[in-house]
Amino acid sequence: MPGTNLTREEARTRAALLHVESYDIDLDLSSAREGGTFRSTTTVRFTATTPGAESFIDLVAPSVSEIVLNGRALPLDSFADSRIALPGLAAENELKVVADCAFTNTGEGLHRFVDPVDGETYLYTQFEVPDARRVFASFEQPDLKASFTFTVTAPNGWAVISNSPTPQPEGEGDTRVWRFSPTGRISTYITALIAGPYVGVFDEYRNGDQVVPLGVYCRPSLREFLDADAIFTVTRQGFDYFQEKFDCPYPFEKYDQLFVPEFNAGAMENAGAVTFRDQYVFRSKVTDAAYEARASTILHELAHMWFGNLVTMEWWNDLWLNESFATFAESVCQAEAAGSQWPDSWTTFANEMKTWAYRQDQLPSTHPIMAEINDLEDVMVNFDGITYAKGASVLKQLVAYVGQDEFFKGVQAYFKAHSWGNTRLSDLLGALEQTSGRDLKAWSKSWLETAGINVLRPKLETDAAGVITSFSVLQEAPALPAGAKGEAVLRPHRIAIGAYELKDGQLVRTERIELDVDGAETAVPQLVGKVRPTVLLLNDDDLSYAKVRLDADSLAAVTEHLGTFATSLPRALCWASAWDMTRDGELATRDYLELALSGLARETDIGVVQSVQRQVKLALDMYADPAWREQGLARWAAAAEEQLRAAAPGGDHQLAWARTLAAVARTEGQLGLLAGLLDGSQELDGLAVDTELRWVLLHRLVATGRADEAAVAAELERDSTAAGQERAASCRAARPTAEAKAEAWASVVEHDDLTNYVQDAVIGGFGQADQRELLAPYVEKYFAAIKGVYETRSHEISQQIVVGLYPALQVSQSTLDTTDAWLASAEPAPALRRMVVESRAAVERALRAQAADHAAGARELGH
Ligand SMILES: [Zn+2]
Repeated sequence: MPGTNLTREEARTRAALLHVESYDIDLDLSSAREGGTFRSTTTVRFTATTPGAESFIDLVAPSVSEIVLNGRALPLDSFADSRIALPGLAAENELKVVADCAFTNTGEGLHRFVDPVDGETYLYTQFEVPDARRVFASFEQPDLKASFTFTVTAPNGWAVISNSPTPQPEGEGDTRVWRFSPTGRISTYITALIAGPYVGVFDEYRNGDQVVPLGVYCRPSLREFLDADAIFTVTRQGFDYFQEKFDCPYPFEKYDQLFVPEFNAGAMENAGAVTFRDQYVFRSKVTDAAYEARASTILHELAHMWFGNLVTMEWWNDLWLNESFATFAESVCQAEAAGSQWPDSWTTFANEMKTWAYRQDQLPSTHPIMAEINDLEDVMVNFDGITYAKGASVLKQLVAYVGQDEFFKGVQAYFKAHSWGNTRLSDLLGALEQTSGRDLKAWSKSWLETAGINVLRPKLETDAAGVITSFSVLQEAPALPAGAKGEAVLRPHRIAIGAYELKDGQLVRTERIELDVDGAETAVPQLVGKVRPTVLLLNDDDLSYAKVRLDADSLAAVTEHLGTFATSLPRALCWASAWDMTRDGELATRDYLELALSGLARETDIGVVQSVQRQVKLALDMYADPAWREQGLARWAAAAEEQLRAAAPGGDHQLAWARTLAAVARTEGQLGLLAGLLDGSQELDGLAVDTELRWVLLHRLVATGRADEAAVAAELERDSTAAGQERAASCRAARPTAEAKAEAWASVVEHDDLTNYVQDAVIGGFGQADQRELLAPYVEKYFAAIKGVYETRSHEISQQIVVGLYPALQVSQSTLDTTDAWLASAEPAPALRRMVVESRAAVERALRAQAADHAAGARELGH
């Protein structure tokens, strides 16, 4: 992305010089149905502390037709390299910029989508991190807040939504004009515009005298599936909970939530106009885990209205805090809000967030939570699992450290002091020090300024009668990969240790000890003199952020009884520990498979079931000894069929096992069952073979050569929606022929006309684990292509390609060597290098795990 970067130093200089009052932004979207470009007229009023000084404003646009600064026309070539140079500033300035900006199909800037169902055009903006400048001339940095007034010309009959309440449109004929009222002072990246024949459902949030209008929108083709009441219910719970805990009323005039097409992220917290990916409008049956994930996302974005939008980071180096706070807030709200449907949210947090954080934190690219963000390119690559998941985990540890009440009191003081302003981390930590009386400098240093995960291991000795004679917790410094940034240190951990016994077939906690672990070895005298329990679980209740190991006896008990823990959180922690050991080659894939098979039969938490199912498939594809892999896959497929047939009719487990079987089916019988379910010749009691499940079944049949192009075309006929087009594209890329692979490859790598979603679907279909031989020629092609891809495509699109097409399935030394040769010779940009280095790490890890699995197999055979 040459020319579109902005350094922190430039931002600092500009913030010191300028104070921005307001933007009037006039957008003419009357040609949206044709696409191409749209007219954008921006008038910015701002002051400068040093008259005569020079600055610049950001703009990414195909062309500019007028630049007028303080009544004086500037030459059009002042616009170059995505900036407009502003020389000779006055104390008070008015700048007018008229530009033709481009609609996009990458989900960045002003995304334009045509729904094949109704042929109508749907637009929405996505600006984080630096893309408001693709729609209007803007000082694109979070600490130059201003009031924004949007005026939008759009086709008659459209819904037009922005940060301020939607006004009555004016005018006659084919177009109308919407004149929005000015916003409060907000950052550019949370301004928003959503326009098109979207349909809305309306309600309000009431609390005493307070009335906040609520809206939920989607495309008409999804309207029949929009369960607005469920969305309003969670939203209201969030309003109640956050307003009370933050002691601060919701800061904006209304709250609209818009489900929009081809959205790259889960959602975006635009002030008062949150956009969500519209897969959250469920058109087929999904499990409760999907409803929980949607509710979490709703609460996450709502929490941002205060933390992020009302009070905003000064620069992107504190993005982690913004995201971590919202992620922590979503979980604590789910756990505690009155009427919450998902009070076990900390289980989900352990299962999803922690797993993500642990994985990311072991990549060569890992970095301290407080990363140096010197420019916008640094931000783009740091939007990772450290930012969201590790940050949130560490914030959870901070809450345990200062106490939850003190934490929220500090947060309240922080909102009172900084409303509508910008802050740094020290502002929040200062407020927490005030309320908790704890010195947080050492805490901050050891948790925020270092990288990696500590490992906690129990060390215990027992006498002949099984009585514990000594017990301590060993802490290991993180094993940082070569080249990783940051220091590997031991940290202070607040943890709980749980003792579990088998009672009536269930593992029940009989004792809980909470303590500070510090240094390499921390003695736990409380356990000495007691009979060794069946399972000893470190970091019970998941207070800290650490990899946890089980002692040999506990591991044996867990392997046999994992499914019998009476509560879901220790189960999730043991699942996570087993998965982590598998990834590290400390548990052979074949042993992990056995543990999963016995544990899954009893696991009730559907979110945990689904993530273990995904992990087992990943382990079999990547970590299994290739000589044994097919045996493991066959065992997994047979188990999936058995569980599917045994599952309660119509339940979530039945659906989850149907999807699992569809991912792995290999025998004639299994594939015949998929085909039978699809054509209706076979039925399973309660299993609805609906639109999405049909595509899942067909995908496997196509990938194994059991169904052909005609079957895909017929299915697309039945489901001629945008989602259907994506599924069809994925099926076509999954066909087991050299021609299909070549076609898919060319459509992604050699052409650049696929939308973000279709491209993602093609990439997903291309990489089939049982097509390794067909895919082998693409190792070389990949390395020949990616530099050009990175240099010519947008950030989102090139990331999909570079990460998604990396030959991760070719687990071999040769893949590592080829990667290393490319890294040594290609001189890739830092962001591109990072993506390739991370992908390489997955292959390196897989090689180690395969060796461990091979060794376990050799032991079993007695070699
Ligand atoms: Zn967020």
